[in-house]
Amino acid sequence: MTPYDGQRVVVAGLGVSGLAVARELLRAGARVLVVDARDDERTETGAAELRAGGAELRLGDAETPVDADLIVTSPGWRPDQPMLAAAVRDGIEVIGEPELAWRLRPIDAAPWVAVTGTNGKTTTVGMVEAILRAAGYRTVAAGNVGRPLIEVVLDPSYDVLAVELSSFQLYWSRDLAPDAGVVLNLAEDHLDWHGSLDAYGAAKAGIWRGNGCGAYNADDPLVTRLALEACDDPHPFTVERPVGGGFGVADGVIVDGMSGVSPDEPRPVYTADNMIPLVAVADLQVRGPHNVANAVAAAAVSRVFGLRQPLPWMAVGEGLRAYRPGRHRNELVASGGGVDWVDDSKATNPHAAAASLSAYPSVVWIAGGLLKGATVDDLIRDQGPRLRGVVLIGQDRAVIAAALARHAADVPVVTVETQDTDGMNEAVRHAAELAQPGDTVLLAPAAASMDMFRDYAERGDRFAAAARAVAGP
Ligand code: ADP
Repeated sequence: MTPYDGQRVVVAGLGVSGLAVARELLRAGARVLVVDARDDERTETGAAELRAGGAELRLGDAETPVDADLIVTSPGWRPDQPMLAAAVRDGIEVIGEPELAWRLRPIDAAPWVAVTGTNGKTTTVGMVEAILRAAGYRTVAAGNVGRPLIEVVLDPSYDVLAVELSSFQLYWSRDLAPDAGVVLNLAEDHLDWHGSLDAYGAAKAGIWRGNGCGAYNADDPLVTRLALEACDDPHPFTVERPVGGGFGVADGVIVDGMSGVSPDEPRPVYTADNMIPLVAVADLQVRGPHNVANAVAAAAVSRVFGLRQPLPWMAVGEGLRAYRPGRHRNELVASGGGVDWVDDSKATNPHAAAASLSAYPSVVWIAGGLLKGATVDDLIRDQGPRLRGVVLIGQDRAVIAAALARHAADVPVVTVETQDTDGMNEAVRHAAELAQPGDTVLLAPAAASMDMFRDYAERGDRFAAAARAVAGP
């Protein structure tokens, strides 16, 4: 018997996590109805398997209200989606896949070290994974990256999980309480989904529900406010020298000013202000100031976890030195004629693009796509001086063009009208004409890709291919 035995559970959305959820619920004895707006070849394989396992399927109609004990929704579904909104109105509980995973995990399950934030989640979670591994734990990055949590929590081969959680996933959670959690930053993104920046922040604060609470970015006023409200014992991190405890960077070295060392650890040679030096910034394999912030955040949340279970200070340096960045994240894809071509297709909102631009002194910027309701005025006001030129692509190109005209009128701007994947070849040709030796051509679109491309990876791949063709071998 499980708590789900005989329960009527609706799985909203037959994506990767929906399929995994439905499988586990069937195994747990639930009566499962899977609902999806699509009814095509993409849903077919999963649907056939679930039908054979005893699930009911309702494909092609995601809106009609349902009667259920519980709804487990795909993270992409908005709270105002008619079926979910009706359920919430009728008092039916709606949760997401990580919350179900949390509820289904066995008593002796692996603890979670969790990361959220507008930008840098995947990078930081990868760093946490590397640190945990260096500490000798069997671990994996999971959640919003990698395998669904529902599979991983039931896999006994892990000691600790490095968990990435999106604001959507946190919104649809209630009990989920990681052993250590960090909020990296908070900026305008997904406002069309959450309704307001406050609602978005409130969702993110769920990461600190665990009684160990966690780490927060003291350089980000919104995150700081949230942490002081939501967390009993918050541990700050900064990219400056930390004063009065916490984590930060002192004389080019990432330091821990929070915790001492346990008696069985080798003792560090402390810095002048009594902090433990963890790793030199120059020894990281990642580029840009934003990635230094990610590394400090990873160190902080790992050491906060270390208040519960052993996490030697030396493992932090070892893990961070070993970490290599993922694809489409400030990836140098071509060089030629003194010009570097960098693919940061993963910069899908203005906050990410701003971080990315600030890593290079003189930039030909390729930007545009779907802005999702965000504004780019601050970004352009701040980053305007480093722009050699701008090439605009995608649906919201005119919004960016207007902001450029307002705040950086001297910067040459070329707009690509072609709205299919060929548009990237055109953009790269224009960028090559604008670039001068010493410049970086940076694809950091500040916008989502789905207007022109399948996803950010395809956008980045097309950029890289065109850049290599232009830059030469
Ligand atoms: P996420 O998983 O949150 O989307 P990623 O680690 O995949 O984050 O990074 C996405 C993009 O966000 C990067 O390519 C970079 O442009 C930007 N970015 C990464 N870290 C930060 C940070 N700490 N602050 C601002 N922008 C960042």
